[in-house]
Amino acid sequence: YSTYSKLLVLFTVSGGGVAAYSESQSEVGTPAAEVNQDERKKKRVVVLGTGWAGISFLKNLDVSSYDVQVVSPRNYFAFTPLLPSVTCGTVEARSIVEPVRKIIKKRNGEIQFWEAECIKVDAANNKILCKSNFENSAVGSGDFSLEYDYLVIAVGAQVNTFNTPGVMENCHFLKDLEDAQQLRRSVIDCFEKAVLPNLTEEERRINLHFVVVGGGPTGVEFAAELHDFLQEDLVNIYPMVKDLVKITVIQSGDHILNMFDERISSFAEQKFQRDGIEVQTGCRVISVSDKEITMKVKPKGEVCSVPHGLVVWSTGVSTRPVVRDFMEQVGQANRRVLATDEWLRVKGSENVYALGDCATIDQRKIMEDIGAIFKAADKDNSGTLTVQEFQDVMDDVLIRYPQLGLYLRNKHLRDVADLLKDPEGKDRKEVDIEGFKQVLAHVDSLTKSLPATAQVAAQQGTYLSRCFNRMEESKHNPEGPRRFRSSGRHQFRPFAYKHFGQFAPLGGEQAAAELPGDSVSMGHSTQWLWYSVYASKQVSWRTRVLVVSDWTRRFIFRRDSSRI
Ligand code: FAD
Repeated sequence: YSTYSKLLVLFTVSGGGVAAYSESQSEVGTPAAEVNQDERKKKRVVVLGTGWAGISFLKNLDVSSYDVQVVSPRNYFAFTPLLPSVTCGTVEARSIVEPVRKIIKKRNGEIQFWEAECIKVDAANNKILCKSNFENSAVGSGDFSLEYDYLVIAVGAQVNTFNTPGVMENCHFLKDLEDAQQLRRSVIDCFEKAVLPNLTEEERRINLHFVVVGGGPTGVEFAAELHDFLQEDLVNIYPMVKDLVKITVIQSGDHILNMFDERISSFAEQKFQRDGIEVQTGCRVISVSDKEITMKVKPKGEVCSVPHGLVVWSTGVSTRPVVRDFMEQVGQANRRVLATDEWLRVKGSENVYALGDCATIDQRKIMEDIGAIFKAADKDNSGTLTVQEFQDVMDDVLIRYPQLGLYLRNKHLRDVADLLKDPEGKDRKEVDIEGFKQVLAHVDSLTKSLPATAQVAAQQGTYLSRCFNRMEESKHNPEGPRRFRSSGRHQFRPFAYKHFGQFAPLGGEQAAAELPGDSVSMGHSTQWLWYSVYASKQVSWRTRVLVVSDWTRRFIFRRDSSRI
């Protein structure tokens, strides 16, 4: 219970995250108010995308200072963590979306929204080319271009099929709201097909074999939702085929949920085993046809094929074509994901920012730089530092690289403390640099790639809007914190992610959660925590009420199994 209340408080207070540096510097330098207003022309900010990153940027941006234009092919914001609930009708699709125009109307100032897709960023001319959603209609069709002073790319990512043959044609995905709605219809179709009179039992069995490829949080949550839907609703509606239903989760790694703490992985595997959900680990899918899924099984690499009724492909994300094209323009063609610096500015570009799933903060050089700080402190090249020198270096590193502090877990602190003691437990006079660098290298691997989650995207959006809100003021007050990578200072603190934990709903009113500080929580109470957090995190009171009433409706009337 104590963990429950602790997490609830954490989630309720969590919001933005990082304050822009100038916040604490407002008394120094020329106040923004003294700047000649006539000389200041509103800069145009173009925002691509209305997902977690784009909307959190817009919700916190001071729109009176900028001419803001938003481009997105979806005129709504979707609360993606509840998409798996939409696939089985636990929550209705319209309950988790909020119209973008409603969100931007609440802002003091004008924001223009264009329902279109950006198809090209012309970085050399500060322009983007867009294709409207109404390409084939007589009115409102055609391409248009927009100029920008600042471009904020928040277009998210697309599904990653790893070029596996047949996946695009024969699998379902769970990335967008349309995917979730389609999946809901297809699950019901499988049952309606399976009860047709002219089928053999084997054919019914195949129709009711649901395969989920990918044992990450989305795949696992979908499998759990589907299992609940079958057990609580469909077995009563289709009693004649209830014993023929099978759910299989295929995972290439050794465990499902392997990005979570191993206690959560094994709890999930045991729960799935009890529920009769088959988990096949060490299997790599090599092709999917409309009838079969073919995979290679480790360690020997035998190939086997399994017939299916429906396959859901949930194996991670990749870069969208428009971002890939832009990467080539800014000299990032050899990278997998668009790289930004710690202030979320695209490397190789002056006025383009990227956040959320479409970008990653490039931290490759950080370890080299930390190594250089140690080298400079080790004046006699002995490979060791005195305890005092060590503590000074540690302070320096943490000031220059505040993110590191957030990732130092108890385990790392224990490792550092061990370095300060000799094998007999007495205080050392000198500290081995290599040993400390190894501890940092482990921490660095944790910080290297932030997870592609809504939590990261939302924090980045809030951070960037705060930087934009203080951009003008900071021009007159440029002395910010020391730069980490090069000489001089930067006007803002770098982005630092705060991890507030992560959930994995496992069905049967049970969930698992990874909490800040290496602790975990699992079981029924965690499911109630999940309900509270996800209700509190809704983007508006309207969606909050709709989601809670959908959950209540499901408890009272069960889920609706109509195929509409
Ligand atoms: P998105 O939210 O994907 O938004 C991208 C936006 O860009 C969309 O509005 C899209 O329409 C728009 N766009 C696309 N192409 C273009 C273009 N060419 N031009 C202009 N606009 C474009 N994260 C969590 O933290 N917790 C969870 O429980 C969780 N559960 C998830 C469950 C599912 C099923 C899925 C799919 C994801 C889940 N995530 C979760 C991950 C989370 O949804 C993503 O990390 C988050 O959406 C990333 O935000 P984003 O703004 O970068 O991208």
